[in-house]
Amino acid sequence: MIIPVRCFSCGRVIASDYVRFKDKMDKIRAENKREPTPEEISTTLDQLGVTRYCCRRMIISQADLLQEILPFD
Ligand SMILES: [Zn+2]
Repeated sequence: MIIPVRCFSCGRVIASDYVRFKDKMDKIRAENKREPTPEEISTTLDQLGVTRYCCRRMIISQADLLQEILPFD
């Protein structure tokens, strides 16, 4: 669905980091025509300053389903 604004566990604001994370992953997919490697994902999260694993799981496990669900409202 929609990314939560704050991490459920620690309360850190993660929504703005998710947008930057997604942009970076889309850029890697477009340039290299493959999925990002776990090392690239980890490095990107480190660069964004997302160090706690509670915040990292919020960003990594996010599934954007809003556009698929909208027709059934
Ligand atoms: Zn957190």
